Amino acid sequence: MSGESLQLITVLGSTGSIGVSTLDVVARHPDRYRVYALTANSRVDLILPQIKAHQPRYAVMRDEQSAEQLSAQLKAGGLTDTEVLAGEQGLLDVAGAEAVDSVMAAIVGGAGLAPTMAAVEAGKKVLLANKESLVMAGDLMMQAVKHSGATLLPIDSEHNAIFQCMPARYQSGEGLGLAAEGVRKILLTGSGGPFRQTPLDQLSAMTADQACAHPNWDMGRKISVDSASMMNKGLELIEACWLFDTGPEHIDIVVHPQSVIHSMVEYDDGSVLAQLGNPDMRTPIAHALAFPERIASGVPSLDIIATAQLDFEAPDYQRFPCLRLATEAVKTGATAMVVLNAANEIAVQAFLDGRVCFTDIPVIIEHVLTTMPLVEPSTLAVVQEQDLVARQMANEHIDRT
Ligand code: NAD
Ligand code: MG
Repeated sequence: MSGESLQLITVLGSTGSIGVSTLDVVARHPDRYRVYALTANSRVDLILPQIKAHQPRYAVMRDEQSAEQLSAQLKAGGLTDTEVLAGEQGLLDVAGAEAVDSVMAAIVGGAGLAPTMAAVEAGKKVLLANKESLVMAGDLMMQAVKHSGATLLPIDSEHNAIFQCMPARYQSGEGLGLAAEGVRKILLTGSGGPFRQTPLDQLSAMTADQACAHPNWDMGRKISVDSASMMNKGLELIEACWLFDTGPEHIDIVVHPQSVIHSMVEYDDGSVLAQLGNPDMRTPIAHALAFPERIASGVPSLDIIATAQLDFEAPDYQRFPCLRLATEAVKTGATAMVVLNAANEIAVQAFLDGRVCFTDIPVIIEHVLTTMPLVEPSTLAVVQEQDLVARQMANEHIDRT
């Protein structure tokens, strides 16, 4: 490939689990990709070796003090080719910069909303890992995609699998709707997480480390807790509704403990297409980076003989009340999804900090969902304000109880 076709990439959240996997794939293809910017919240120790390896034009630290520290360390090490930016404005700048071709949106939680939107509004190829931003502002983000001509490609393994199984017109952003394209339904799979078989009366005693010990995937702590509560599948149900322009009635959630099938699409003629592979995020990352081409990701071949068995179960809504809350929120519409996401983020952080127990998570979310009046999420400012109010309400509830 010639130097002219090198693609410049911004990795938002480069020090996280998805960020690290992204840089692993990028490093395998120096003839195709160059890193334009790396960003992190505060971990100077983690971003420094990434800067040394990838020599980006910019490095952004969300936390201003960390930006100063990083600057000093780069100067001391003679790494003066990388300019350090700070704060949210720095994130927005590198997400929407003219020179950038692709943006990996891999910041965790609502903190990723504004930078992800900046990349979409600038018409970039956006690789979306940050599902919370789409859950919060799905309508606005999908409108912005149409308006700017951005390409939104799902990194979440299930949505990437669904995308791969979808008709060609859906893949090129010209789908006429599931029914018109001959799609009967989507089967969204999930492993059921570490507590799928834990006796119900023991759930309240589960620790943060137990919740983060996912049987198949190695992920950041927030999404790991979401997987244990199956809020992750609830957020993914909402994510799928926006990405594939459909409603929850056309999406079946299927528990599949081996995480080998990453999701399926059923057609009117009875065909069910599935995408399979080892549970390694480098596969969807490589797929989206190179789409519509295919490149090596470093993921070994799936040993289907060793896999031997694929199991399927219906989801257990009694064990996983978060799944019910998310399903209700998408049906309610308006800002219910903003509130659901915000209250969940606060409840999960409180659980990780040891301030509440695992089974308090859905209780806190339901309290906020049933207390806050809903409004139409007509602008990003409304979404951000509702997000803030829901966070305050969740925190107050935790402090009181
Ligand atoms: P992580 O916790 O490992 O990494 C999060 C990244 O975001 C870090 O680089 C961190 O510095 C940055 N960050 C955190 N708070 C920030 C803030 N306030 N401002 C700016 N940057 C901030 O998370 P992860 O597991 O890599 O997940 C990232 C996103 O990808 C999440 O939305 C998650 O749901 C989604 N996702 C992850 C996986 C996975 O396998 N890890 C799979 C599917 C989807
Ligand atoms: Mg997923």
